[in-house]
Amino acid sequence: MEPTMKKLKVVGNGEAFTSSLCNTSFRLDLGGSAILIDCGYQVPPKLWEEEDHTDIDLILLTHFHADHSFGVVPLLVRYLEEKRTKPLNIWGPKGVESFVTKILNLGYPGVSKYFKYQIEFSEFEEIDEKHFGEVQIRSAPTVHSIPNLTYRLDFNGSSFSVSGDGKLKPEAMALVSGVGIHFQETYELLDEIPSHCSFEEVLQMHNAGTMRSIGITHIARHAVEPLTTLHNKLTMENKIDGNLFLTYPGQSFEF
Ligand SMILES: [Zn+2]
Ligand SMILES: [Zn+2]
Repeated sequence: MEPTMKKLKVVGNGEAFTSSLCNTSFRLDLGGSAILIDCGYQVPPKLWEEEDHTDIDLILLTHFHADHSFGVVPLLVRYLEEKRTKPLNIWGPKGVESFVTKILNLGYPGVSKYFKYQIEFSEFEEIDEKHFGEVQIRSAPTVHSIPNLTYRLDFNGSSFSVSGDGKLKPEAMALVSGVGIHFQETYELLDEIPSHCSFEEVLQMHNAGTMRSIGITHIARHAVEPLTTLHNKLTMENKIDGNLFLTYPGQSFEF
């Protein structure tokens, strides 16, 4: 049997506090089922624009900052209203179950007793590997202000990875080596904040050719304009090629 075509969509590519962009989030469609990677507070309305938000069977969280996780609460409660019965998997770093249970109970105390669907939690160690159907998911840590995991997803000979927030540690660099597309949090232009990645570092990754292609996400609101201008200038001067690209909401990739 032919493997089903997979479609990856950039749901949002923004940082935590922008007005015009949605928090960085990705959706991988597997055909009747989908994986959502990160779910910040701006994400659920974007998902609800599509009927198929109910296809999501796995929510993968890179870390527990609100711009990557607080959207889980409204998403879960809307599933209750929609009378969801199929199980929902929520996987993430250590403590994912207690974290989600806590924010759900803060938002809507006691609501989970009305859920008609099971939530299956699973924790990733820093270096770990799990399988969701035919998708292999591997993790490695980054340097961020709280524990954050980079995930690499491999399926039918294709692959992509999502950094979450932070600078890639050597283990994460090794994990994303040779990946088809790596989506990297690129908060700022120059390397000035220890817990975030910069365009300066992404340029080095591009020049080293470690990943086949790099998509830039999660740019700080003050850096969007200068970073875009610099990216365009470097492209015009042929100093970088199309394999180092800026992401945009709704952008999609087929595998
Ligand atoms: Zn963060
Ligand atoms: Zn963030």
